Amino acid sequence: QEESNELRKKLHIIVHGDDVCNPIKSFKLLRFPRSLVKGLVERGIRKPSPIQIQGFPLVLSGRDMIGIAFTGSGKTLVFILPIILFCIDEELKMPIGAGEGPIGLVVCPSRELAGQIYDEINFYSAQMHKHGGYPLLRTMLCIGGIDKREQLDGIKRGVHIIVATPGRLLDFLDRKKFDLELCRHLAFDEADRMIDTGFEEDVRSILDFFRHQRQTLLFSATMPKKILNFAMSALVKPVIVNVGRAGA
Ligand code: ADP
Ligand code: MG
Repeated sequence: QEESNELRKKLHIIVHGDDVCNPIKSFKLLRFPRSLVKGLVERGIRKPSPIQIQGFPLVLSGRDMIGIAFTGSGKTLVFILPIILFCIDEELKMPIGAGEGPIGLVVCPSRELAGQIYDEINFYSAQMHKHGGYPLLRTMLCIGGIDKREQLDGIKRGVHIIVATPGRLLDFLDRKKFDLELCRHLAFDEADRMIDTGFEEDVRSILDFFRHQRQTLLFSATMPKKILNFAMSALVKPVIVNVGRAGA
């Protein structure tokens, strides 16, 4: 316990919340599959960053989390890698059938960001499939400005993870093109921009489509009061992890 506090202090990690698990400082100790670590190394990533050191064990344990850390601190992996691992576990237990899914849903404020996150998820899933024999996850990019038919074909085959912008996502949900019956992991990225750009109402409507327990994760570089209030109402007993720059 004391060791964990020392590590947090050294890395400028501040946590708020009940029963916060210990930070874990290597992929090996996190027991990430070798094929995943290989993928990380291929991207030049050899050890977890501070937000990841605290975030991975928290998210993997199923807790809700609010992650606040500066741009470039590695927030994306904190939600995508655990969601990938959860989906692979589920797929091994009970494969996703036609028209089923998603299990994981990522919502972000812009098409560009959605595209990047989607590519990252596909990269790590492909690495685990190729080098570890894990099932290849089916993913879908659900954003405006691209052909709906192609997106809907993806849903028909069954999908593990959807990366979406709020508008197109609500469009599909409203018209019952898919539902969130199996969705257990929801992540909001760049939450500050999402609220700024007037998506707040959309975000609340998305939450209304959940009728059962889920894990909710929310990430942002800044945490204005308004977003924190939203987060506290949408998340259950969240752990807040705040990582500052050294000396900041
Ligand atoms: P953020 O969302 O916090 O702004 P990103 O998740 O986009 O940051 O990551 C920024 C960059 O850092 C990406 O190119 C990513 O691949 C890289 N990165 C992520 N985690 C690590 C790590 N542990 N070590 C080195 N580079 C990393
Ligand atoms: Mg980011």
